[in-house]
Amino acid sequence: MDAVLPAVAEELLKEVKKSYQENLRITDELLLGLKFVFGPSALHALDLVDQLSVTHVTCPSGRTLFQVLGSSGKSYICYSSCHYCSCPAFAFSVLRKNDSLLCKHILAVYLSQAMKACQELTISNQQMSQMLLSKDDEK
Ligand SMILES: [Zn+2]
Repeated sequence: MDAVLPAVAEELLKEVKKSYQENLRITDELLLGLKFVFGPSALHALDLVDQLSVTHVTCPSGRTLFQVLGSSGKSYICYSSCHYCSCPAFAFSVLRKNDSLLCKHILAVYLSQAMKACQELTISNQQMSQMLLSKDDEK
């Protein structure tokens, strides 16, 4: 977890992890907390986690990223280490307007780790480079 999230958000994610480890579910209180801190993205993010849409992609060179399959069927690349997502919502409401902490994809990455619902995928260095290049072209 990095320092870009406010302490309250980090605390909440820790609680989610704990609740999940102990009861395999998120309590209603935590759900309300998530909605309060992250807004409507929280429920969308939980849906993404339920649908196992988050994949942690690694390659032998040690590069790593998260691929999140959005509800529209398009997939986005997230880097939790530098708090970035390739989706339009992130560029618009997080970077430009600064009115949300993160988009639902990055939140889904955090939640999937807390809830151990993250898929693992290992690809070759070359595939990783291609993946990063093709994403840049799309912008
Ligand atoms: Zn996003």
